[in-house]
Amino acid sequence: MAKWSDIDPQTLHPESLMMTYGFRPEWSEGAAAPPIFQTSTFVFPSARAGARCFEIAYGLDEAKPDEQPDLIYSRLNNPSLEIAEDRLALWDRADTAALFSSGMAAITTTLFAHLRPGDVVAASSPVYGGTHHFIETVLPQYDIGFVRFDHRTTAEQIIGLVGATGKRLGMIYVETPANPTNELIDLQMCAAVAAHFSTTGHKVPLAVDNTFLGPVFQHPLEHGADIVVYSATKYIGGHGDLIAGAALGAHTMIDPIRAMRTFVGNMTNPFTAWLLTRSMTTLQMRMERQAANAQRVADFLRDHPRVKSVNYLGHLAPGDPRHDLFKRQCLGAGGMISFEIVGGKEAAYRFLDALHLFKLAVSLGSVDSLAEHPATMTHCEAGEEVNAAKGVTPGLVRLSIGVEHPDDLVADVARALETA
Ligand SMILES: *Cc1c(COP(=O)(O)O)cnc(C)c1O
Repeated sequence: MAKWSDIDPQTLHPESLMMTYGFRPEWSEGAAAPPIFQTSTFVFPSARAGARCFEIAYGLDEAKPDEQPDLIYSRLNNPSLEIAEDRLALWDRADTAALFSSGMAAITTTLFAHLRPGDVVAASSPVYGGTHHFIETVLPQYDIGFVRFDHRTTAEQIIGLVGATGKRLGMIYVETPANPTNELIDLQMCAAVAAHFSTTGHKVPLAVDNTFLGPVFQHPLEHGADIVVYSATKYIGGHGDLIAGAALGAHTMIDPIRAMRTFVGNMTNPFTAWLLTRSMTTLQMRMERQAANAQRVADFLRDHPRVKSVNYLGHLAPGDPRHDLFKRQCLGAGGMISFEIVGGKEAAYRFLDALHLFKLAVSLGSVDSLAEHPATMTHCEAGEEVNAAKGVTPGLVRLSIGVEHPDDLVADVARALETA
């Protein structure tokens, strides 16, 4: 029988490695599935070995190439987290990953680890509401400013906006596709702006929130990004039963984030990490099914007289410059749709209240289909005027498509549109 050690991860696809990679049954009584390492602390084999662990953990010395330091304490490291982190990193071909207690924990720790007082962060707009609040309200309290750009802003314009602040560019932070409009930001363009402001002493990191399409349909590290962040609550967890987050990239980018995590103490817990490990075994097939279902629902909406317009990446037409960017940057259209209903907010509310199979709830990426009203729910903080400029209109409805039978999803949407 083949042993784990016979498998070369370079030659296999991530979905083939999700049941084996990073765990050996002989480490745990032959268990085929990795156990949950529900422990606070770890016993050192000797005092000298314990001291050596601390030397490495505190950066007083580097681990030798073949040295496997013992585990110390579950705020620093825990096998359940490490197995999930090693497997998650495979999807984005990242060197390393760090798991967090939530997507917001991953995002805020990434920002705090790489930004310094006096910096400015250039952030795409719109971004997730919690991220928007943190960048625009919390970071300025620490003397970290921001400039905002969107899918229409050119590289020259971003360079001009940053230059006008007179501050050091500390990071470019991007969310693409944008929520809920599915507008795309050009990552290669952002990487060029980051390179423009980088110096020998300071590389400006490009961080990308890859929650919407990743890790199956978009790999930002291959397009010039340095850090990928996730709300693992969404597709990676995928069952609507946990909250978690992650940051991925090269060691130079992630090690400072992991160090900050150690002191903030916002790592995830062994049980949630174990659930993520279990969820990743079906990640590819869930996301493929969700994407196929979304195509069916989006096509149905496009042809419906009560629907004004549909924001769905699979509908971008060749010749549209957004189509070229989509083909270059994304591997699929994903499972997120938004559409403008005829009749504004009242019609949108009637539609949402009439759904049976779709649940009326925020969040996304779960096996169950969800529907919500961005203008008065997830995006209410920005206010009506700012929202309208971003395309978050009173008649906009957002759908997160699950793994149900596509005929049932289309029938539910059809019936609710009749009611609206
Ligand atoms: C949900 C979400 C977040 C926040 O993640 P939590 O796990 O809820 O903390 C960040 N970014 C995007 C794009 C999200 O959808």
